[in-house]
Amino acid sequence: MSARIQILPPAVAGKVAAGEVIERPAAALKELIENSLDAGARAVEIFIEEGGAGLLRVRDDGGGIAAEDLPRALMRHATSKIKTEADFSEVRTFGFRGEALASLAAVSEIKLSSRMPDAAHGYLFAPGMQTPRPQPMPFGTAAEARAMFADFPGRRRFLRAPATEAAHCANAAIAAALSSPKTAFQYFANGKPRLDLPAAADYAGRLAAVFPKLKGNMLPVRESAGAFSIDGCIFAPRLGATGKSIGQFFYVNGRFVRDRVLRRAVSDSLRGMAHGGDPGYALFLSMPPAMVDANIHPAKLEVRFMEPRAVFEFVRRAAGKAVSAPLGAPLGAPPDAAGLPSAAPHAAADSVAKNEVKILGEEKREGGVFLKYPPANSAAAADTWRKMFDAAAESAAPPVQLFGDAPLGRALGQLHDIYIIAENGAGLVVVDMHAAHERILYEELKTAFDRKPPEMQRLLAPLAAALSPLQAAALAEYGGELPGLSAKPRGEQSAEISEVASLIARRCDPEKLLAEMLDAIAAAAAEDHAVAVRDAALSVMACHAAVRANCRLSLDEMNALLRRMEETERSGACNHGRPCWQQIERGYFDRIFHRGR
Ligand code: ADP
Ligand code: MG
Repeated sequence: MSARIQILPPAVAGKVAAGEVIERPAAALKELIENSLDAGARAVEIFIEEGGAGLLRVRDDGGGIAAEDLPRALMRHATSKIKTEADFSEVRTFGFRGEALASLAAVSEIKLSSRMPDAAHGYLFAPGMQTPRPQPMPFGTAAEARAMFADFPGRRRFLRAPATEAAHCANAAIAAALSSPKTAFQYFANGKPRLDLPAAADYAGRLAAVFPKLKGNMLPVRESAGAFSIDGCIFAPRLGATGKSIGQFFYVNGRFVRDRVLRRAVSDSLRGMAHGGDPGYALFLSMPPAMVDANIHPAKLEVRFMEPRAVFEFVRRAAGKAVSAPLGAPLGAPPDAAGLPSAAPHAAADSVAKNEVKILGEEKREGGVFLKYPPANSAAAADTWRKMFDAAAESAAPPVQLFGDAPLGRALGQLHDIYIIAENGAGLVVVDMHAAHERILYEELKTAFDRKPPEMQRLLAPLAAALSPLQAAALAEYGGELPGLSAKPRGEQSAEISEVASLIARRCDPEKLLAEMLDAIAAAAAEDHAVAVRDAALSVMACHAAVRANCRLSLDEMNALLRRMEETERSGACNHGRPCWQQIERGYFDRIFHRGR
């Protein structure tokens, strides 16, 4: 065999390049839909057969392709979207490389037909034709790819079962539909309608149509700062529906991307709240095109930010705000929001009709009025912390009407001295009282701590604590006072504890508290030390001061706890990420008792 280098003939070169862009039918479908959207389509119809490898057909009512351009559209580097290098940094279309149709033509039999606005008829260009041929058709463009990878036995072998490929195609269609709410989408698989999304006014409308069952569980995200803005929602982490089951849709300037920076920004904002995996979300980030490079990945699934740190901080803050909004307050969007509504319809109706148990996420309040709750001071155990941080006492709300339509309802009693059982409009609410109280105390301690450090109590005799090398280094580095605990390094690998916060003096194990704080310091980035150590200290304090399981509460105390939960940020989950409460809808009971059948 000769070892001489030769230039591949164009047909072979095309096949080599096509392999990169078009990894599987869903990738081709994404390109076809994006072409329709770039052409300004207001409606897109998608047909797939045999997982897309048999047939992919996308029809739109967009601006069309001129007859003489049809053959050219299938050539490599043929695009109408950019002309000069300068255009490159300002692209606002999905496509700009002019290679998708060429790649698709290399791996399948492709037919392209189009009718321009005002033209009397359209034109078809198909394999074997020299020039386009007139044909009757509606305005717009239809692109059809058949027998994908028929000449690529290797690639074809790597395709999964048609049902799996079909699922990937459906995901590609959903991902595209979410980013373009104003365009109507219809999707048919093997002739059966699978998705019918009418044009929506905004992202919220499209999200509600794509995820009808999750309507009540969307935490709106809506924020802008300088050149950045973000819209969309995070699905309440308490739902038990995770990112895996719902999907994690992140868009940058309308382009669906898989980006680690963005993903981390969202999961960071949820630290200590989502037990068992990141939640689902659909987030739409916008920024000037010049601040992001969309041309770094063959399928354009990754981007590079000019200022990744700023993007990270912006997204983390916006997501954090959405997930930590208190239950009793209207969530997110301003009343005039063109995007997501501040009042989501109650999710109860959906699932009662379907007779299924539905675990609701954070309930949202109708309208923009803040509800007021009775003062939260009747639970004896809950009061301990207040004595210590008098600053926090100022925040007690004035007594107003009891319950009304309070989201967490009216306490009925306790179950096994662990759970509070309450009744609300949707059904039954079950609260893990320790987890809930711990979250309340933690959030309140954080607020109080920022105003005033906790009162300390001197130990009878200083306590020696052994440290790991990492912990010792952290103590040396942090130096000074730790919140809720005074400790000095003593020798190489130990410390001497002389004081602890009065709140926990009787209950906590100071050595363990010190170790936890030092671990938190060691794990935190240098600039975050103060926050990490504060949060670790307060989290331990809250855990120790919270009502224990097996503690009897009066109904008043239970109601006070519920009201406090409604006012507390992040009350969906305790500091360790366990859920604090769950909703069991009345429909569940109707079903098990065969009511109304
Ligand atoms: P790109 O989208 O990067 O420009 P493509 O290979 O996907 O490259 O498409 C090549 C060209 O064909 C596009 O630039 C556009 O002019 C035209 N085209 C493709 N699909 C459509 C469509 N559905 N409607 C109108 N024009 C289209
Ligand atoms: Mg394209």
